[in-house]
Amino acid sequence: MPELPEVEVTRRGIAPHIEGRTVRGVTLRHTGLRWPFPIDLEQRLLNRTVRATSRRGKYLLIAFDHGTLIIHLGMSGHLRILPLATPPQKHDHFDLMLEDQVMRLTDPRRFGAVLWHPHEEGSVDNHLLLRGLGVEPLETLFSGQTLYKATRNRSAPIKQVLLAGDIVVGVGNIYASESLFEAGINPKTPAHRISLARYEKLAQAIRRVLAASIERGGSTLRDFVGADGQSGYFQQSYFVYDRGGEPCRQCGSAVRQIRQGQRSTFYCVNCQK
Ligand code: ZN
Repeated sequence: MPELPEVEVTRRGIAPHIEGRTVRGVTLRHTGLRWPFPIDLEQRLLNRTVRATSRRGKYLLIAFDHGTLIIHLGMSGHLRILPLATPPQKHDHFDLMLEDQVMRLTDPRRFGAVLWHPHEEGSVDNHLLLRGLGVEPLETLFSGQTLYKATRNRSAPIKQVLLAGDIVVGVGNIYASESLFEAGINPKTPAHRISLARYEKLAQAIRRVLAASIERGGSTLRDFVGADGQSGYFQQSYFVYDRGGEPCRQCGSAVRQIRQGQRSTFYCVNCQK
């Protein structure tokens, strides 16, 4: 599943090909993905120019003067930039024609989303899907204080509090396990029991883990451009994630795998207290 780093790498990959370009057509090959496509999307976007791209959590935001196109990659979505005449394949559901190129959304499992937020409705941050999101982990606003203050009344395990996304976004299952390992915090620790000093460590770990992943993705991800440019999500090596039973890379004891709220958590009993 694309996580924050993959979405950010996608944004960086497509940005130079779409920013400043004008929409010459929209093709929808399905009635919708997770939600129906906006029915009048082509009318809204035709002859409008892409002003900027940004990201909020795992939502890609494509800004026009009169509103913002919100794209979510769901469980299996990919965006690619292709020559206009490239014939669509089975799971290609949405095309945005931009002068001589097309930005194409492929989404086999159709959990993604393409939505429109008109300028009249105010800042895109007020959109129903965005307004409840926590702070961006890579922005300066995010610190150990953010985590500490927001968790004084939260007795749930820290791993689940991170996944909830209402304090900080983008710390999905992989990055929660990895950051907690790096910070030396047991994922089962009740969030309100963790000290400010340990939250400072955790915030730093979250930043470092996500930034390193984006950097690695940017360098290993194949091109977003071209028909067979596999925009496959990057494989990475992890300290604990997906390594149940294998030796901890730090101390050698077996990495433990448990279930927390239907998700797998990986940690080292020895390194994480
Ligand atoms: Zn260990």
